[in-house]
Amino acid sequence: TTVLNNPLRPALLAAARSPRLEGAMSRMRITRKLVDRFVAGESEPDAVAAVLALVNSGRFVSVDYLGEDTVDSAQAQATVDAYLSLLQSYSTMDAAPRSLEISLKLSALGQGIDRSLALANARTICAKAEQVGVWVTVDAEDHTSTDSTLSIVRELRVDFPDLGTVLQAYLKRTEQDCHEFSGPRSRIRLCKGAYNEPASVAFQKPVDVSDSYVRCLQILMEGDGYPMVASHDPEMIDAADRFARAAGRDVSSYEYQMLYGIRDAEQARLVADGKQLRVYVPYGNQWYGYFMRRLAERPANLMFFVRSLVSR
Ligand code: FAD
Repeated sequence: TTVLNNPLRPALLAAARSPRLEGAMSRMRITRKLVDRFVAGESEPDAVAAVLALVNSGRFVSVDYLGEDTVDSAQAQATVDAYLSLLQSYSTMDAAPRSLEISLKLSALGQGIDRSLALANARTICAKAEQVGVWVTVDAEDHTSTDSTLSIVRELRVDFPDLGTVLQAYLKRTEQDCHEFSGPRSRIRLCKGAYNEPASVAFQKPVDVSDSYVRCLQILMEGDGYPMVASHDPEMIDAADRFARAAGRDVSSYEYQMLYGIRDAEQARLVADGKQLRVYVPYGNQWYGYFMRRLAERPANLMFFVRSLVSR
């Protein structure tokens, strides 16, 4: 099974964008338990508890304050405040260098309202993160935002050269983008991609997405940057190991990444094997879009959900 072979995927990804369904789902008591499989909790203390447990197990973390497609600037400001507060909590933790990171979605910082608002908000967060010695990575969202997101990242990297971003292997443009972002101090999280994208811009067949991922990974591993291999797919994980060895890379010059609650045993195995492994930890009450993308990814996740509804 792979990312795109779920026949319900397009419907679930369309549902992920429906405010009406979001309202209905949020009112269903049963969803909470399911959401907890993928989300660390609603509050900052919940996130901090998850972070401490992961860091104590030798894993790195990247915390995401859930939210996206913000259309009001007060909401965007609330997101900034949540990150500033989280960074303050990070600064009191006794954690190994590199182990703490935050992930941002520019759409949650106001990208849909005004590019300069998202840029200014991201800059505020980057400045605080730099002050407390924490890495920042900008998530990738749907393809209509790619150019804007990469241009904001380029602009921010003038002042914050370690700012990372995400490239999605399902996009046909990504191989080219990998060439641009494989230079010194470039931190790129390579993932397959989680949105519903048209054939004009994105590979549709799972095998084509995987092939693209492997090509992109090779470019990043042969480059001078810091590749972040975000995948649960054993084939991608093996390919990363192969390319890293071939390029003579030290294990500290790249890392693996997986999502909170997914393949926990494999996460532990990589750490036991001496690899760097970062877990993406989402928290907050705006879990709906994130949760629906996880259901769309994997028929097994969806079946778990359906079964819990019928056995209520
Ligand atoms: P898939 O194609 O979903 O799975 C391939 C194989 O992995 C499966 O066949 C199975 O062998 C194995 N596998 C997968 N799940 C399980 C499981 N639960 N148990 C056992 N085996 C399993 N997407 C974006 O669009 N933008 C982002 O910014 C972004 N950030 C991400 C950050 C991280 C750290 C990660 C891990 C993913 C991120 N994604 C992001 C999501 C990503 O694009 C994919 O949608 C998601 O990771 C699923 O693709 P996959 O590579 O894991 O493999």
